[in-house]
Amino acid sequence: MKTIGLLGGMSWESTVPYYQEINRLVNERLGGHHSAKIILHSVDFDEIVQLQHAGDWDAMAEILADVAESLQRAGAQLLVICTNTMHKVAPQIQQRVELPLVHIADATAEAIKPSGIKTVGLLGTRFTMEQDFYKGRLEDRHDLTVIVPEQADREIVHRVIYDELCQGKVLDASRDEYRRIVASIVDRGAQGVILGCSEIGLLIGDRTVSVPTFDTTAIHARAAAEYALA
Ligand code: GLU
Repeated sequence: MKTIGLLGGMSWESTVPYYQEINRLVNERLGGHHSAKIILHSVDFDEIVQLQHAGDWDAMAEILADVAESLQRAGAQLLVICTNTMHKVAPQIQQRVELPLVHIADATAEAIKPSGIKTVGLLGTRFTMEQDFYKGRLEDRHDLTVIVPEQADREIVHRVIYDELCQGKVLDASRDEYRRIVASIVDRGAQGVILGCSEIGLLIGDRTVSVPTFDTTAIHARAAAEYALA
């Protein structure tokens, strides 16, 4: 079994399910007292949020590449960035380490394939919904058609992530808003919806909305565990 290096803390609320899900799958496969070999480096998320909103992606790339190097030195054999948004700087991180990276968008596209779904909604931070590192990758590499909410709804999705979910607040009123927003992208043709932010699974899931949901945290964690066991 390979040792997994987790770049976590973005936010810590969603690093917890990563840790649980990876261990759960490894134990399911190996049984007994088996658990995953994990090295976790958890950042202070406030530093990242400040830089995100200042648009200083180079500074964030530096921070996370330093973390990746330290995980490599500590013995990690593969890297997992425990957030969708920060995959924006995945190429810069990969330049600084030799470790394979389990990319969250690729893992998610693979998980969608068996469902036969071709047109999928995407909820996430403004960065994930609006920039090409994620939506573009799903479309160009995986041949999916991706529908994001309209501008005003994107603002709501983004605000709920940072002001509530990343701070552990799971509110019924926001769940209702997300339900409404999912219904509107389903009206526009989405056959399923990607929970493209690692905290959204805390708020909605298959039982909350009318189409299949693809929870990137669970999918990514399972892909990492499979890779470690392969
Ligand atoms: N965890 C979130 C994501 O998956 C947002 C927090 C972040 O900006 O990293 O995108």
